[in-house]
Amino acid sequence: AFHLNNLKELYSAMKKMPAVSDPQEATCSDHGRPLELFCESCDTLICISCSVHSHKHHEYDLVTEIYSKQCQKLRECLSPVEAKKEVLKNFLSALAEKEGEIRERGEGVLEEIHKMVEKMMDVLRQSERKLTEQAKRVIDDKLKVLSEQVKSAEASLHLLEDVGDYVEQSLKTGSPQQVLGSKKQMMKHMSEVTAGINVEGLHPKEKADFILSKSIKSLHHIGDIISGSVALQQCRVKKIDHITPTDTTRSLSISIKAPNSSLFEGSTTGQFQYPCDIAIDRQGLVYVADFFNNRIQKFSPCGKFITEFGDKGAGSGSLNEPNGITIDTAVSGLVYVSERSNHCISVFNNEGVFISSFGREGSNVNEFYEPLGLTFDKNGFLY
Ligand SMILES: [Zn+2]
Ligand SMILES: [Zn+2]
Repeated sequence: AFHLNNLKELYSAMKKMPAVSDPQEATCSDHGRPLELFCESCDTLICISCSVHSHKHHEYDLVTEIYSKQCQKLRECLSPVEAKKEVLKNFLSALAEKEGEIRERGEGVLEEIHKMVEKMMDVLRQSERKLTEQAKRVIDDKLKVLSEQVKSAEASLHLLEDVGDYVEQSLKTGSPQQVLGSKKQMMKHMSEVTAGINVEGLHPKEKADFILSKSIKSLHHIGDIISGSVALQQCRVKKIDHITPTDTTRSLSISIKAPNSSLFEGSTTGQFQYPCDIAIDRQGLVYVADFFNNRIQKFSPCGKFITEFGDKGAGSGSLNEPNGITIDTAVSGLVYVSERSNHCISVFNNEGVFISSFGREGSNVNEFYEPLGLTFDKNGFLY
């Protein structure tokens, strides 16, 4: 645009100038005399008065004398213009060639992306199948255990009904001799049947205590089904062996105990259902995120239960599947809990009193989707 404007200006300047073949018609704007002379020093038309005043010591000559020489000069200047024109034309065809190459390469790359994503989706579908099978296995295993319990409970119920019916029938229809004659046997039978049914043991052996852990390690491993029944996950903090504070770090050693029965699994104080994360405050007190119990439990360094806080829900101070916990030991001493199903972080003081919460479901700034780990740096900034 800049060059084009310059050319336009040049062209209109030429139009304003007098026709070169008729110099008498044009006059000097300073002296009103015909522009018969050309000053070579200034490259401009001048009049006879100019030649003795402002252009006195310049190189000038009559227009008629100098014209053909100046035309030659102009023509000489044309040849570099032509040369540049040629160069630019070549450049344009080189650009066109490159454009073609770029488009071709672009199509190739787009094709590659498509193929790569197709492959990834194949792998993802495989991972989906694997994970689905894993989940189905967990579900089937649990259902199988329950269905065994159902069968056995139904069989027991039938047995009880049969015995009951038989005895009642005997009482209704039997003669006194018949009833008394078989009384001993009926009593024995009834006590055998009832003794065979242990009322204490009548509770479901399985729970709906499994979750999808979305630990995406690679396309081949996009997650796991974590079941609360897995013994290792019922670990109980036995005691904090020692805490070694230094200037910048604090190392600690914790003993945990994995029960071989579900002794520690449960929802009373000191029991857990899938404890997920653990944090230790400045006093060495231990806070455990008790996932399926929707609460935080607080223990002394030697593992003695102190208090618990949170209950299932989405309101202030409620927790829904807490799976991460950390304490701002550097600055405020507040306890921060990430909640898987509320998609937010709740803040409590060290007594378990609710302070605030932040975040909601989403992927924008300040939004979370199933937040998991969180931690503080030594300057008190939360990550
Ligand atoms: Zn003049
Ligand atoms: Zn001059």
